[in-house]
Amino acid sequence: MSLMAEKLSPLDRLGPQRISILGATGSIGSSALDLVAHHGGTFSIEALSANSNVQLLAHQAIKFKAKLAVVADEGAYGDLCEALSGSGIEAAAGQSGLIEAAERPVDCVIAAIVGVSGLNPTLAAIKKGQRVGLANKECLVCAGDLFMKEVERSGATLLPVDSEHSAIFQLFDFDHPERVEKIILTASGGPFLKTPLDVMQNASPEMALKHPNWQMGRKISIDSATMMNKGLELIEAFHLFPVAVDQLDVLIHPGSVIHSLVQYCDGSVLAHLGTPDMCIPIAYALTWPDRIECPVKPLDLAQIGTLSFEEMCEERFPALTLCRQALQTGGCAPTILNAANEIAVEEFLCHNIGFGDIARVIDLVMEQAARENMLNNASDLQEIATVDAYGRQKALSVIKKLQAQGEFAGYSTE
Ligand code: NAD
Ligand code: MG
Repeated sequence: MSLMAEKLSPLDRLGPQRISILGATGSIGSSALDLVAHHGGTFSIEALSANSNVQLLAHQAIKFKAKLAVVADEGAYGDLCEALSGSGIEAAAGQSGLIEAAERPVDCVIAAIVGVSGLNPTLAAIKKGQRVGLANKECLVCAGDLFMKEVERSGATLLPVDSEHSAIFQLFDFDHPERVEKIILTASGGPFLKTPLDVMQNASPEMALKHPNWQMGRKISIDSATMMNKGLELIEAFHLFPVAVDQLDVLIHPGSVIHSLVQYCDGSVLAHLGTPDMCIPIAYALTWPDRIECPVKPLDLAQIGTLSFEEMCEERFPALTLCRQALQTGGCAPTILNAANEIAVEEFLCHNIGFGDIARVIDLVMEQAARENMLNNASDLQEIATVDAYGRQKALSVIKKLQAQGEFAGYSTE
């Protein structure tokens, strides 16, 4: 018998795969569609959604022959209908449209909306027992317990798309979690790893958006610069893998070649390596337990030569400490932290607050929430929504107050 497996095309092995993409017009959504285009007839599209970019959404829906295109912004529904007229593609809008896109039976839903806005549609897919490739980490941060309970209840298959979590998923011994000593999430360090602290505090949005290794959406790019992204990923990992809070570590690895590591009780440390391209974890979520070829430059370790690491400096990145504290506190602390961060990032991108103010605003909101007893567990989605609204409102009022006192940093225009 030959040990060489017969080389079958993905279509022969997997069969035709029908998928829906929530957040199709974003960075993850577009990468997922690139993969679909690369694999010709293997994947077909049921539904695509966007927030308000009707032109791009309609273009994608027509190109990929989607059955349904959904725009979250109800005011853009008329434009979507017009852009799709004569194509035979159904159009929908608003929350009900997003839920419909999430619920239609498919082989996989890619959940790639940014922020807490993705929670309800992603949960709708989970409740239907669908297979979900989860990029939208804020779902797990703001409602992790409820979300994971629903995964268990519905029997949905949840596959991480975040590169670190996809790596850990591939390294973790789920049959023997007691053998795992530590999960080590790698962090590139973002654009400000070596920037003098005073320059970093006053960095402009343009400077903060320049990530050295990854091309991503604006919100996650700012989260990577503050290291909030790594903190959100700690919380995400806590919900995805059966480990305790103190088993989660972060290590700076500027090259982004190792996507994360799992350390075992015998001293073995398993690492996952790959070219930093989100196409790889997206493909893995779509095809697990199979794998397909990706249109990505192969990793050339000889050319890379050296892999370097350094300890995380939490003084430089206070947002990471805030995330650890929220995870330790539990209850609704991560929900409020996430809400305050979404507001602070938006205000920073609008040039209303300085870079260093992002963590400061979140810290002040967390202090206030603790004083006002807002950190208890939420028992349902309605309570999550209330707490999320509270965090947003507090962040806006903290910002207003500090602005009135003239306490915000200026910006460097470099
Ligand atoms: P992005 O900003 O590029 O795209 C976001 C998508 O969500 C867009 O299609 C947008 O139209 C849609 N959207 C935005 N607001 C919405 C709303 N209120 N209602 C409905 N749809 C809305 O973001 P991204 O970089 O693709 O990231 C998406 C998610 O994936 C985030 O949670 C991010 O943390 C996570 N993620 C991204 C990357 C990456 O490389 N980009 C890596 C890991 C994880
Ligand atoms: Mg990540």
